[in-house]
Amino acid sequence: MTERNDRGKEAAGASMNPPLQMVRLSDSRRCNAGCSYCPSRDFSIGRRLSLAELERVVDFFVAYTNGVRRKPRSLSFVFNTLGEMSLAADNLIGLADCIERVNGGGRCAVPVYLFLASTNLLDAPDGLVEFVNRYGYVTVSLHGRPAAEYAPRIARFDERVTLEGTDVIPRHHMDLLERYGEILRHFHIAAMRPVREPPMTAADSALWVEEIAELTRRLDALSDEALAGFLTRLSFGDTLLNALMLLDRGARLHYRCHAGVSSLQVTPEMEFYPCTFLQHPDLRMGDIERGLDLAWHRRFEALRRAGARPECAACGILDVCGGPCLDWARKDPTGDRFLSPAECLYRRGLFRTAAAFLERIKRRPRVIEAVRRHCGLGTQDRQPKAKGEGRCSEC
Ligand code: SF4
Ligand code: SF4
Repeated sequence: MTERNDRGKEAAGASMNPPLQMVRLSDSRRCNAGCSYCPSRDFSIGRRLSLAELERVVDFFVAYTNGVRRKPRSLSFVFNTLGEMSLAADNLIGLADCIERVNGGGRCAVPVYLFLASTNLLDAPDGLVEFVNRYGYVTVSLHGRPAAEYAPRIARFDERVTLEGTDVIPRHHMDLLERYGEILRHFHIAAMRPVREPPMTAADSALWVEEIAELTRRLDALSDEALAGFLTRLSFGDTLLNALMLLDRGARLHYRCHAGVSSLQVTPEMEFYPCTFLQHPDLRMGDIERGLDLAWHRRFEALRRAGARPECAACGILDVCGGPCLDWARKDPTGDRFLSPAECLYRRGLFRTAAAFLERIKRRPRVIEAVRRHCGLGTQDRQPKAKGEGRCSEC
């Protein structure tokens, strides 16, 4: 009787658990790219998860989703190898089949999706190329390397595949417009965001704000056609476009990002962390054996709510900023591990620059008309004010 009561309480408790929308998965820490921001750089290579283990992770989160009362609209798995994709081609293809079976058999209460992120394509085997041709989207982390280096590799993909080149803005002066142009000569769309390598400093933030301001001044000088052409080739994860979209929508973010709130990262050790970049022991949110640490999850939710910090509650850009990035906070030696003064400087400068640029773009109807089709910019009059969680444009 007691056991039955306990089981009843457990089931009732589980139904109150928070819904999860996105699970990032990495099956390996192996990498031959060595990007400076990657959390796997400091780990020994270790083993690679088998397909059976990855299927266990899928089963775990499908069961979790079926058990919660407040359902997410969908459950997405983002396969992110943090390194050389080619090593994991069989896992990727097997995972896609697994998710197809989950959907086909109606095993999850909500639709389940698989996305692919952080492909470096340094040595993609034919099997992976075929898979990506069906999949239709590839993100390549350039990390300061010449985009031309990737030309022969990405030429192997079908022309219908969308190729996104992402890069970091370094700590020394860079002509951003030129770098975007170089990426766009080889990729369909581009994204750039500041490099995140410790220590993050106020001097770096000031440099990045000045460079982004200079970029917008140079963009102002372009013809309507050229400016529209540029903006429509930015990815939604691009720092500038992301800021323009948030401002234009009049966003009111409840959280800066989904990390630790409705999304998490499953590492190759099958441990749970809030995000790909936050693999610190004190932020561990459970593992596949013991399950999700819900006490931690609740603490995290409170900690990350927009305005939870007094600095944020008093900040003029809270609605569009949503609060600090914990990864940045942990890399800023002047911060307190949960808020980075250097990041605040950057975010305030970024949104100030983007707001002024947005006003200037809106005075160019032909540009707005073209950009609206790409990302909805300029449709704010017809949309309700957006509420919710932010999309991370940093990782
Ligand atoms: S800029 Fe800083 S203080 Fe302002 S909302 Fe963002 S994280 Fe909070
Ligand atoms: S904003 Fe920071 S904490 Fe949030 S997902 Fe991006 S890197 Fe992680």
